[in-house]
Amino acid sequence: MLIIKDISNLKLYLQAYENKGYSLGYIPTMGALHQGHGQLIKQSQKDNKKTIVSIFVNEKQFNKPEDFDSYPRNKGKDYDFCDQFNVDVIFEPSSEEIYQENETKLENKYFKNILCDDFRPNHFDGVITVLNNFFSIVKCNKVYFGEKDYQQLKIVEKFIQEKYSSLELVSVPTARSEEGIAFSSRNEKLSKKQLLEFELFHNASLKFMSNLDKDININQANSLAKEFIRKQAIEKFDYFEFRNISDLSLDGSIQETRLFYAIYKGQVRLIDNINF
Ligand code: AMP
Repeated sequence: MLIIKDISNLKLYLQAYENKGYSLGYIPTMGALHQGHGQLIKQSQKDNKKTIVSIFVNEKQFNKPEDFDSYPRNKGKDYDFCDQFNVDVIFEPSSEEIYQENETKLENKYFKNILCDDFRPNHFDGVITVLNNFFSIVKCNKVYFGEKDYQQLKIVEKFIQEKYSSLELVSVPTARSEEGIAFSSRNEKLSKKQLLEFELFHNASLKFMSNLDKDININQANSLAKEFIRKQAIEKFDYFEFRNISDLSLDGSIQETRLFYAIYKGQVRLIDNINF
């Protein structure tokens, strides 16, 4: 496994892959790798000859400096994780390296003022900006994103259609623990008690969904969702609502939706979305 930190070196290796006609799958991550990332890696290995994982905690997508500072980082473990998964290349650039060639800040135009974009202004601008730089450096055939971050997935889909149309986006279903919650780097920051409370909340949400009448529309479902969330032992939440899976609108029947939530346990913000 190669661990590469600078763009010029990376380009040499990727050029060698291209010369040999190897297909390349790419998984952008912020590190603190877990089984969710593992699913993306496995999918890429099924589809491609070579797989590259980038590890970069992108300051530009954090709204609060303290959230960036406290984001989990565990370099040594990440290297072992990738090694066990037989990843071919880890690309782990510094901030100076990734922003040296192109500092232009892009503005996201899609799925604005809803869900995470409503509560984390400019977050998706930061996501698109860093991906723009990564995509221009890591010339790959396919790129892998998780459904766990569904709004991000939809935004990246549009961005790729617009700017990197030869790149194929592959979406991967959310990987979950036996208790049902989505694997997430942020789960590492929860105490045992908070984790248990989170599992209880998630499973109560599943039960709430399964008890709903299948014929109601999204607005009716959201009225019931409001009542449900009010009764939960949650210190704070940003949103808990059904949205249409194709365009994230509030139009249509509940059967075309996912339930999206962003809740807090202490300082830790946890997001997920559940298939109806
Ligand atoms: P992150 O390191 O959190 O930026 O995530 C990197 C990629 O892994 C993103 O495309 C995420 O959607 C994806 N991902 C994170 N958690 C999961 C999960 N539990 N299941 C599937 N994909 C995930």
